[in-house]
Amino acid sequence: MPGFELFGDEERKEVNDVLESGVLFRYGFDEARNGHWKAREFEVELSNITKAKHSLLLSSGTAADTIALQACGIGAGDEVIIPPFTFVATFEAVLALGAIPVFAEIDETLNLSPEGIKQAITDRTKAVVPVHMCGSMAKIDEIRNVCQEHDLFLIEDACQAFGATHKGKYAGTFGHIGCFSFDSVKTCTCGEGGAIITDDKWVYVAADQLADHGHDHIGENRGADGHPVIGFNYRTNELNAAVGIAQIRKLDKILEIQRKNKKILKDAIKDIDGVSFRHIPYEEGDSATFLTFLLPDETSAKRVNKALADGGVDSCAYWYDNNWHYYKQWHHLHTLTSINKLPQIGMENLPDYKNIKLPKSDELISRAISMQIKLSWTDSQLKERAEKFANIIRENI
Ligand SMILES: *Cc1c(COP(=O)(O)O)cnc(C)c1O
Repeated sequence: MPGFELFGDEERKEVNDVLESGVLFRYGFDEARNGHWKAREFEVELSNITKAKHSLLLSSGTAADTIALQACGIGAGDEVIIPPFTFVATFEAVLALGAIPVFAEIDETLNLSPEGIKQAITDRTKAVVPVHMCGSMAKIDEIRNVCQEHDLFLIEDACQAFGATHKGKYAGTFGHIGCFSFDSVKTCTCGEGGAIITDDKWVYVAADQLADHGHDHIGENRGADGHPVIGFNYRTNELNAAVGIAQIRKLDKILEIQRKNKKILKDAIKDIDGVSFRHIPYEEGDSATFLTFLLPDETSAKRVNKALADGGVDSCAYWYDNNWHYYKQWHHLHTLTSINKLPQIGMENLPDYKNIKLPKSDELISRAISMQIKLSWTDSQLKERAEKFANIIRENI
C-alpha cells in the first residue's frame, strides 16, 4: 500500500520547483510561481485517472470525509450509516458535523453490506458512507441501488482504495462524492493530503468554498471577495501537492507490483484446508494493497496471527483486536469522551455505542487476517515469505 516505498528523483524534482519559486500557497502569486501550480496539476491528474469531472485536493483524508458530508448538506442530528470496520476518521468526520454515526453490518466483502444498510435506515438517515477497506471494494452497485431507492447521499470513503475499480469504474465515482487519503502510508502519498472527486458541479463548488473559509474563488487572484457560506480551512499547499503529483503518476506501476505480489501470496495459501478469502466483487480491479484471508474460527485466527508474528512473517494485521480499525476497541467512542461537549450529547436516539450488536461483522472480522502487500519485496524475499506464510498457516490452522 505505501507509495513511500517508491520515492525518489521524481518527488524531489517536483518539490524543487516549489522551493525554487518560494510560493507555497496554492492560490495567487501568479508572477512569482514560475508557472507552477502543483495543487491544480494534481487535481487535473486525479480527474484524468478517475474520470471524475471535478477533483479537489485537501489537507487530509479526514478533511475529505468531512467536506464531502458537509457539501452534501449533512449536519446536526442527521444520521449517517457507516461500517464498523474502518479507520476512526470516518466516524470522526460525522461527529465533527454534529451528525450521528450509525453502524451497519458488513458482509463477506468485509465492507458495508446492502442488507445491513437497509436495516439501519431510519427517517433521519441522510447519507451512506461505504468504506472500501484495505483496498478492496464493497458491493457498490447494490449499495448505489439502495441509496437511490431511499434517496440517500452516497459518499464513498475510498481513502484506502485509490486506484481500485469495479467493472472498470474507479472507486470514488459511484456516488455523489468519493474521498481519498494521501497520508504517509497510503497507496500514493502527499506526506499529508486527501481529496474529493465528484461529477456534481454544485457539490464541487460547495466543497471548494467550505475548504477555504467560504471564499467563492471567483475572479482575480484567489477570488476571496465573496463568502457565500461559512467555511473552514482544509486547504492543501504546493509542497504536499508536489510530492503527490510525482506519486500519483506512479499509480499504475504501484498497482502492477501489488497485484503481482498479492497473487504469489494468495496462490501459496489458497489450497490450504480451512483458508478462505474475503469476497471481492470485481477481483480484477482490486488495488491489491492487502491480502485478506479468513480462518475457520476466532481461536484459529488468533493462533495463526500469533504464529505468523512469532515466525517473523511481518506486515500482518488482526483487526478484531485492533483499536484503530474496529468498533469493538473504540473505547473513546463507546463513552463519547471528548474534550468539549459534543453537540450530539443529549440528542434523542443517539445510539448506545457501548452496547452495539453487530454479530455478522464480529463473526467475519474475528476470523480475518490481512497481510499488507509491499512494493519493495525482491523476488527471493517474496518466495521465501510465501513458503513460510503457507507453512505457518498449515501448521497452526
Ligand atoms: C487513512 C484513512 C482516512 C483518513 O485519512 P487521513 O489522510 O489520514 O486523514 C479515512 N478513512 C480511511 C478508511 C482511512 O484509511
